[in-house]
Amino acid sequence: MSETVAEFMDRVAARSPEETEFHQAVHEVVESIWPVLDRHPEFREANILDRMVEPERVIMFRVPWVDDDGHVQVNRGYRIEMNSAIGPYKGGLRFHPSVNLGVLKFLAFEQVFKNALTTLPMGGGKGGSDFDPKGKSDGEVMRFCQSFMGELYRHIGDRTDIPAGDIGVGAREIGFLFGQYKKLANEFSGILTGKSPEWGGSLIRPEATGYGAVYFAEEMLKTRDESILGKKCLVSGSGNVAQYAVENVLRLGGSAVTLSDSSGFIYDKDGIDHEKLDWVKELKNKRRGRIAEYADRFNADYYPDQRPWSVEGAECVFPCATQNELSGPEAKQLLVNGTYVVAEGANMPCDPDAVQQFVDQGILFGPGKAANAGGVATSGLEMAQNAVFTNWTRDEVDQRLRRIMVNIHRSCQEAAEHYGDPGNYVNGANIAGFIKVADAMLDQGIV
Ligand code: NDP
Repeated sequence: MSETVAEFMDRVAARSPEETEFHQAVHEVVESIWPVLDRHPEFREANILDRMVEPERVIMFRVPWVDDDGHVQVNRGYRIEMNSAIGPYKGGLRFHPSVNLGVLKFLAFEQVFKNALTTLPMGGGKGGSDFDPKGKSDGEVMRFCQSFMGELYRHIGDRTDIPAGDIGVGAREIGFLFGQYKKLANEFSGILTGKSPEWGGSLIRPEATGYGAVYFAEEMLKTRDESILGKKCLVSGSGNVAQYAVENVLRLGGSAVTLSDSSGFIYDKDGIDHEKLDWVKELKNKRRGRIAEYADRFNADYYPDQRPWSVEGAECVFPCATQNELSGPEAKQLLVNGTYVVAEGANMPCDPDAVQQFVDQGILFGPGKAANAGGVATSGLEMAQNAVFTNWTRDEVDQRLRRIMVNIHRSCQEAAEHYGDPGNYVNGANIAGFIKVADAMLDQGIV
């Protein structure tokens, strides 16, 4: 008698207690791939699943730094090297007070399948710290990044592990981290992605996650002979992913009417146009202000401590802030309000109850590991350009990104159909990613 999903999950929970986000991410994948294990006894014989939920390596370290008042502060740094079956570890760094081992293991686990879907040779990893860049001076952020890289540099390399940005790690932090690596290792190589185009970064990398999520939504809509053109869209977050999701909605002729941060959301019934979006980029990326300021500047509505999902009349929804930011009751409300396209720009933003409702109702639901894979895919393109010392044009990278999103959409669709659940992108993404990694692990033996 083989084990049930519940028994498997009990073992995962017992081995890594209190890592609730990790359990949530594993559970979703295991539910999807259980029928695959029934058809592929070789995966069970090689105990592939138990090996996949155990990180290959976890690095935890002290990050001491000195604040502007001369006080010594201590944070905790992490790098989870989850799976290298199909390539070097690849995945972002998150600096946010909510970061802990369970959050990073969830993100690293998701990353393994997402990277497999891109078809590029990248394994999965994730890292970060409970450091909060909010309210810190540039000097404090620089000293923190230098101390963080003071340990991390031993573990990364362009053929080993290539981190990138995530929440709280944008162009400024990548610059400080890269500078410190270069100094310690005495080499200029592509050990981070998301670099500035002046010193090794790829054009379109900043745009890639948000653009990709909207391209993915466009592909889902095409299956119903529709497009983003003329659609009203709700976007959450106002950071990197949200900004470029809005930009691509505009490029494809849709209208985005909301943005948010952890203090509340704005609703602009006239739509966020290019000029307003440029102002948001300046607000968030340079002045590092709060989204509430938008309401005063552009005469929009501001709702403190709320999320944008109560706004009515939107066909499309792009959650682009953080995990579990769209709950079951909010999903129900969206469905009542007529939403039928949800593409996750963030990682695991819809909680399990919300996902279940979207899947049960048969709407076009693109899970994060497929819909937001454009970011890491373009990081892969940055690595390729670094490896051969070249730079591609904006158009070339954008076209490659679009092709990758079309291919990811197709492989999710095909896997879902092959396993008897057409239109279910959650199962499709999990199964397609899992099979690729599992096959590689089988080929490479028990390591
Ligand atoms: P940013 O730091 O640029 O922006 C994050 C945004 O989300 C901010 O508006 C932030 O508001 C908001 N936010 C963060 N935490 C919370 C919270 N607990 N509650 C409410 N709002 C919150 O990060 P990114 O845009 O890069 O990342 C957003 C999401 O996309 C994450 O889930 C990330 O893992 C995922 N992602 C990012 C990729 C990338 O290339 N950057 C690639 C793939 C996925 P505030 O400023 O108030 O904190």
